[in-house]
Amino acid sequence: MLKNFVTAITKTKTPVKNKLEPLIIPRAEHTISRSAISRNALKVLYRLHEAGFNAYLVGGCVRDLLLGHTPKDFDIGTNARPEEIRNLFKNCRLIGKRFRLAHILFGHDVIEVATFRTHHENAQEGQGKSHQGMIVRDNVYGTIEDDAIRRDFRINALYYNIADYSIVDFVGGMQDIKEKALHMIGDPTKRFLEDPVRLLRAVRFLAKLNIHITPETEEPLMKLSHLLDQVSPARLYQEILKIFQSGAMLSTMNLLQKYHLISKLFIYSNASKTLLNAALVNADQRVREGKTVSPAFLFAVILWKPISEQVIHLESEGMSAYIAVEKSIQHIIKQQTERLTIPRVMQFSIREICLLQHRFYRRGRESHLLLEHPRFRAGYDLLLLRAQTEEPVQELAEWWKQFHSATYDQREKMLKEIHRTVNAKKKSRRRRKKRKNHRIPINSNNSLFK
Ligand code: ATP
Ligand code: MG
Repeated sequence: MLKNFVTAITKTKTPVKNKLEPLIIPRAEHTISRSAISRNALKVLYRLHEAGFNAYLVGGCVRDLLLGHTPKDFDIGTNARPEEIRNLFKNCRLIGKRFRLAHILFGHDVIEVATFRTHHENAQEGQGKSHQGMIVRDNVYGTIEDDAIRRDFRINALYYNIADYSIVDFVGGMQDIKEKALHMIGDPTKRFLEDPVRLLRAVRFLAKLNIHITPETEEPLMKLSHLLDQVSPARLYQEILKIFQSGAMLSTMNLLQKYHLISKLFIYSNASKTLLNAALVNADQRVREGKTVSPAFLFAVILWKPISEQVIHLESEGMSAYIAVEKSIQHIIKQQTERLTIPRVMQFSIREICLLQHRFYRRGRESHLLLEHPRFRAGYDLLLLRAQTEEPVQELAEWWKQFHSATYDQREKMLKEIHRTVNAKKKSRRRRKKRKNHRIPINSNNSLFK
């Protein structure tokens, strides 16, 4: 079986190293310095090595260090079995049902240590795969070579050996690092079929690492968006969170659109693009400055246009503005959670942020309270974004900007002012209504779209 797999991958046009002869890049010929590796990860690597096991840094951290990025976390691969790892570390916790992993805890810092495992192809017939070719189990131990070829992209399958500080490359990942290329290990179509989340991972790496995709890997990526329908909403949600925190959301979203993946993930309207672009430039900037980005806010931005479209639709059927807004928010969030398992608390926050857009129109005594609302900042940021883009809310946003930064007395004055204007408008409307027995237009005072 393994032979078949290796034959299959060597059939691809780009050269892949023979399984038994990895390319070894000695310390003098690569750029990874120990000073760039977390001290805790080094401690774990040395302890494993001293106990006679093989120990390597592997995956995203090796890739990131070679490409000049700062790794998010440091993962370790070893031939030690989970119980052997536990015997070596007092601060070790074994986790995972699908595959047992060791977590070595150093306060808040967690170093993940995984025993080498094999590709599902090497598992016995009928194990590890569903009949459509999707991986359902991933828990068979293997050699380091097996461990390398079961990974997704070649740049993600490099091993930094603590024994001599060399890099071990079974799949041609070093060449890809040099060429800044993303290339699937093995047959790309088959590997996407096996685990469709790899479609999203491809897009995330392309955007985050600013690299290009090879034609062989891109071709199926263009055509396989429908596979995401088979992925559980819970797993998709985890991937989306990673995208939100990548610092490259804007380019990720553009790529998700290019590869027809966006509508598989979000209730998305083409009208969302301008608003979203404006929000994502800010969000990426924040992540790059080491600040956090609120996923609830980003969801509110993404869902705002579909919600607005729904409001217009319901209002045109004669529903009052407030009910239309409530119903639309509820409806769109429900649809969205069918695709991604957004936790309840977050759903609630998204709802509040969107509802605030409506409450901002009601300028009166409650405006003081709105400033204290836990979601005020996010709601206000969305209002400013709407004003920045094509929505006719500039005057409202300006008013809130002033109100927000004013003293209490100045706020009172602003409220009196608004009270007078609203009263004057109401009076003239009443007069007109009496004269013509005219129905109040739907898009009136409190509408989101006046
Ligand atoms: P990030 O910087 O986002 O953490 P990463 O490459 O480290 O990127 P992880 O999800 O942390 O991504 O996974 C660690 C490693 O495990 C990857 O580098 C890859 O080798 C392997 N891996 C993760 N997910 C998959 C998958 N779906 N299919 C195959 N290999 C995977
Ligand atoms: Mg990682």
